[in-house]
Amino acid sequence: MKRWITLLLLAMLTGCATAPKNTLTQISTIDALLAGAYDGQMSIGQLLRYGDFGIGTFDALDGEMIVLEDQVYQARADGTVQRMPANATTPFASVVTFRPDRTPGLTSVLTKKTFENAVDEYAPNQNLFIAVRFDGYFTSMKVRSVPKQDQPYAPLAEVAKEQSVFEYIGVSGTVLGFRCPAFVKGVNVPGYHLHFISDDKTRGGHILDFTTVGGNLQLDACNRFYMMLPDEHRFAALDLAKDRSIELEKVEK
Ligand SMILES: [Zn+2]
Repeated sequence: MKRWITLLLLAMLTGCATAPKNTLTQISTIDALLAGAYDGQMSIGQLLRYGDFGIGTFDALDGEMIVLEDQVYQARADGTVQRMPANATTPFASVVTFRPDRTPGLTSVLTKKTFENAVDEYAPNQNLFIAVRFDGYFTSMKVRSVPKQDQPYAPLAEVAKEQSVFEYIGVSGTVLGFRCPAFVKGVNVPGYHLHFISDDKTRGGHILDFTTVGGNLQLDACNRFYMMLPDEHRFAALDLAKDRSIELEKVEK
């Protein structure tokens, strides 16, 4: 115990922010995002100290975030994808240091739903966080992105009505994201939350549906959860007591 406290103090003094193994690190909460908390709270440079893999969004809700192999990409509502600099910021993101425990190949034709069922078979413990990566060929890939917002921010359920939807036919790329336990309701997205980026890094977004003919699946189970909340007046003023699960369901589709 004493040693642990010493280590913790050392980490605090040296400003060491590297998360321990199998830790999902999260910035803010999904309900804060649903309520319109879109101001960037952490720089991308800092976020990458907590993981090299994950998803989220950017300051002012400017597009969908994809963190893959230590690079951060922005899939914008105009359909473009770009790499983001270290000084860009995020209001909501989840990352892990991706070290897969299981790497099964998937060879059958799968839709988003049957893909999720297949992942459930490989990762039956629904009470852990599962980081999911799937590299494959998609006969169709339907994604969305949200447009950058201006103050005063509208709630996410309103913004989602103006989302751009893109359907790509015949594209190779990576599906990545998380399956979160049901008990994270209000904090993160229970169940699957998946983003996509094409191999050539020109197309991407938040996945609505897809069909794949197969590829390589990698799963990393995480049993540690680290959350950082914004310490500022707008976050303090949010009503986070309310149940926003219906709003979340609308936004996810
Ligand atoms: Zn998303």
